[in-house]
Amino acid sequence: MYTCSSCTVHTCEKPENGNYPKNCPVLQKERIGEILKEYEPYREFFTTCARIEAEGYCQWPRLRETLELCQRMGYKKLGLAFCAGFRSEAKILENLLRSRGIQVVSAVCKVGGIDKEDFGMPSDCKIHPGGYEPVCNPIAQAELLNDAETEFNIVLGLCVGHDSLFLKHANALSTVLVAKDRVLAHNPCGAIYTANGYYKNKL
Ligand code: SF4
Repeated sequence: MYTCSSCTVHTCEKPENGNYPKNCPVLQKERIGEILKEYEPYREFFTTCARIEAEGYCQWPRLRETLELCQRMGYKKLGLAFCAGFRSEAKILENLLRSRGIQVVSAVCKVGGIDKEDFGMPSDCKIHPGGYEPVCNPIAQAELLNDAETEFNIVLGLCVGHDSLFLKHANALSTVLVAKDRVLAHNPCGAIYTANGYYKNKL
């Protein structure tokens, strides 16, 4: 079992730290060697990501990094899977991409317009039971973008778990620009930073 999150030596980052822990994945040389081959189809993509990280390190916000990636990879048709609560942000992002000559195919989370109960969910899955409340449809978002043959997708604020289904079903590589957090202005790290303090009783 691998436990990098409780490692105290981090020799993978700093070889001068000495011995690797007994269960360190670095010691699985053969397995790591096999895994490296899986990068082959993504060599240009992955190298571009590394170059962007190096060039913009601590200078460029994630939005700039995302735009740089799309432009440098020469994408002409991009998918945008966004949450209905991010309509205005989606519009801004669409304009930024279009101004760089990139066509944007977008699908909102409520695509399909199906009421949660018609979908087969119990009424307690509604924020306001009793009324029409459309279910999010992340698999449809992915499949519609697949139908359009997008070269790359950007995920903007999909709900927890809905993002999982989108990422599982999208054919093209996708990046998450925004992880939605309705309480912390889309900054989930706020709760991590305060997990032992102000947010202790909220987690
Ligand atoms: S890879 Fe090895 S050295 Fe690096 S964090 Fe994981 S256990 Fe520690």
